[in-house]
Amino acid sequence: MKRVAILGGGPAGAFAAEQLASAGLEVSLFDEKLAWEKPCGGGLTFKAYSQYPFLIENDTPKRIVTETVLSAPGAGRVTLKLDDPLLIYSRLDLNRLLLERAQRAGAAIEKARVLGLTRCGSEWRLRTSSGTADADFCIVATGARNPLREVGTQLTPADAMSALGYYVPGQQAQIDIQFLPRLEGYIWIFPRCGHLSVGICGKGEPAASLRKRLERYMAERGLSSQGAAFYSHVLPSLDTPSWRRNRVAGEGWMAVGDAAGLVDPITGEGLYYAIRSADLAARALLSEAGGLAEKINQYRRLLRRDFSADLEFGSRLAKRIFLGRFLFGSVPARMVQFTRRSPRFSRIMQDLFSGRQPYLGLKRRLLQNLNGSLYEIFMSLGMSRLIPRKTPLTG
Ligand SMILES: Cc1cc2nc3c(=O)[nH]c(=O)nc-3n(C[C@H](O)[C@H](O)[C@H](O)COP(=O)(O)OP(=O)(O)OC[C@H]3O[C@@H](n4cnc5c(N)ncnc54)[C@H](O)[C@@H]3O)c2cc1C
Repeated sequence: MKRVAILGGGPAGAFAAEQLASAGLEVSLFDEKLAWEKPCGGGLTFKAYSQYPFLIENDTPKRIVTETVLSAPGAGRVTLKLDDPLLIYSRLDLNRLLLERAQRAGAAIEKARVLGLTRCGSEWRLRTSSGTADADFCIVATGARNPLREVGTQLTPADAMSALGYYVPGQQAQIDIQFLPRLEGYIWIFPRCGHLSVGICGKGEPAASLRKRLERYMAERGLSSQGAAFYSHVLPSLDTPSWRRNRVAGEGWMAVGDAAGLVDPITGEGLYYAIRSADLAARALLSEAGGLAEKINQYRRLLRRDFSADLEFGSRLAKRIFLGRFLFGSVPARMVQFTRRSPRFSRIMQDLFSGRQPYLGLKRRLLQNLNGSLYEIFMSLGMSRLIPRKTPLTG
């Protein structure tokens, strides 16, 4: 196996191309647009740039954000300081950075649309907008709107969120996250270089209704949508049963990034998982172990161990976080109030944002800190006299 075709040149495809070309394989990457402003917040967490330091150590323009303001109906707002800042890139710049690295590693990059692929014995024949190409193996990185039905994950309506928004002129230092009544999703304002990206994502609600919610919020905030560039896209958000049957690989191919549905079902973070899955696919493909079938199984195992079991668990929590109730209030309202009142809870929220705290293990950490958090909340409310002096406080 020498010739690898990479279908799609977003973060997942470009990083897979870099890894495989660096190892000496003959890599051809096809993307119909190459570097482009894909609808996306462009936010990269600590989890991403701590594992892949080139994502922060470069000259590409980016915003470094150290504050997020969380708001929920009935709970007001709270500022969460981010000790591990979030980086915000324009996707045009980020894609270009990754594609240039792939090219420097030796990958051949072609601006062409892949129209179809056919298995011929142990090879692939690709039909592209500029001709045909043969390959021994395919990495499928065509994103959430993967048009190639025979490879990659198959998103049902239950496995996807709508995401849409506007690029609005303006500047601000912080990220805003607004939870909304009866929405499995949220509104964001991301400060980017030269403008704001204001958007909404939501599951189980038509895009037109999400757009109305967003425009109402923008009007309340004095942000005009008139003349602002509109964007919309699909955000994979796999339902719990779909993680187990997720089609991430098959005979002669592996899917990476959005084409494999690898997005956090709560936050919508996909950039880290695109790069990470590309890394794991390359490792499996380059491993000494067995033949192609064994490499494919190894990719499945690596994904599961590395992060997909965590995302599957996250998919169980999503509805409870956005739509659930706790202590007679909505969970988002309680999150805002607890973050305001308890430094311990605020630390947990920070760690969730940065990716230091996986979903698996979250319940344990919350329980370990429960006494301490409640104590802090009571104290901040001036209710210390309600707490018996000798109550043992753990956490
Ligand atoms: C509105 C919105 C906001 C988001 N915000 C964030 C965020 O702030 N942080 C975060 O981590 N994630 C965010 N995400 C998710 C993130 O954008 C994706 O997870 C990420 O882009 C996945 O990378 P990818 O390489 O798998 O796919 P993509 O970036 O979608 O790349 C796929 C590439 O394949 C190409 N392609 C598709 N079909 C073909 C074909 N037939 N032939 C040739 N080329 C083809 C496309 O041109 C494209 O370049 C957001 C998503 C949305 C929709």
